[in-house]
Amino acid sequence: MPETSAPPFARRTERLRSSTIRDLLKLTEHGNVLSLAGGLPSPESFPMVDLRREADRLLSEFGPSVVQYSSTDGVPTLRHWIAEDFAASSGREIDPSGQVLVTHGSQQGLDLVAKVFLDEGDVVVVEDPAYLGLLQAFDLYGPRFEPIPSDENGMCTDVLADRLAAGLQPKLVYVVPNFHNPTGASLSIERRRHLAELADRYGFLIVEDNPYGLIRFRGNEVAPVAAFTDRVLYLSTFSKMVAPGFRVGWCVGPQLAMEMLNRAKQATDLHTSTFAQHLLGNLVSQPGWLADHRRRIVPIYRERCDALTASLRSSFGRHIQFEAPEGGMFLWSRFPELADTDLLQRTCISNGVAFIPGSAFSVHRQPQQTARFSFATLSIPELAEAALRLVAGYTATTRGAQL
Ligand code: PMP
Repeated sequence: MPETSAPPFARRTERLRSSTIRDLLKLTEHGNVLSLAGGLPSPESFPMVDLRREADRLLSEFGPSVVQYSSTDGVPTLRHWIAEDFAASSGREIDPSGQVLVTHGSQQGLDLVAKVFLDEGDVVVVEDPAYLGLLQAFDLYGPRFEPIPSDENGMCTDVLADRLAAGLQPKLVYVVPNFHNPTGASLSIERRRHLAELADRYGFLIVEDNPYGLIRFRGNEVAPVAAFTDRVLYLSTFSKMVAPGFRVGWCVGPQLAMEMLNRAKQATDLHTSTFAQHLLGNLVSQPGWLADHRRRIVPIYRERCDALTASLRSSFGRHIQFEAPEGGMFLWSRFPELADTDLLQRTCISNGVAFIPGSAFSVHRQPQQTARFSFATLSIPELAEAALRLVAGYTATTRGAQL
């Protein structure tokens, strides 16, 4: 095809958002930029020794079957572990052979949900700000997003209740209940119950996306929304708790919904990597393995979160506002004296530090006073240096305002 003519794209590609995060990651790959932008898990958290041992054992003991084609829903060991894990957290028994679908990361789960449930113009309720990857995945199917404000306790379900009472008819309500991306907030137990009641009363389906739940470094565990209603498609992943490169996630839900998601996945990629599923399924099924692994990795995130919050507090003082999260990878901050953190982002990149401005997570992409900082990837000394560079960028943006 000649370089000058536009390829004959389908109309739906007009709705494909480019990810500010991926674009920014490209910028920060080169040069001396400290990145608080991406949500890359700490490489020190990857269980390299156990992975090597298990990979060796699988290949030598089980041979070709671990690299053969396998069924769309997923390999049995992993599906059984997923069903047990779901029952342990939600108190609901599910059928591992009909209510579980292993996906290529939870991102694929989100895409399949959109593919199977959304017609153009369908209403999808999201938290505001929202997970950018969800907006990207769903946008392609042309829904109308209805943003609902959120605070330190997650989505304001009373606002949702008012809009439902006024006639809003969502098909799906999407929530990230634990250590939200980007806000770091968790949905309170009262709001989880309330959301479940609303789903039962108004008949919508909840998409409960829980990639960060295991990375809790403070506070007590809270039951998932799925504990309070069965009108839930529950998604999770090994990306944050083991390693993202395997691309293994899962979706659990009502039988009829799962049958259709299974068909959609079959048409998309036949199945998720057989080898990656065996490897992770065998590891997490070993008694005590996940609890031990968790004990090792959670302190890494706690220490980094504490280091970043302490450095930002001491260098910005009252010029920054945030609630320290109880887990996950993100610190959501507000700069009360700035109208638009896009400008701050530009000066910060020239000062050698990157973050994501709040506008990237705004459903309507409006300027925001907020920013997402990921504390997951940099070391503690790097986080302290990143905070100093942020201050330099802030001072340049506000033309020398005294901190
Ligand atoms: N949901 C949320 C809220 C996320 O933050 C991410 C990862 N950034 C995903 C889903 C996708 O994760 P996975 O690697 O499992 O596809």
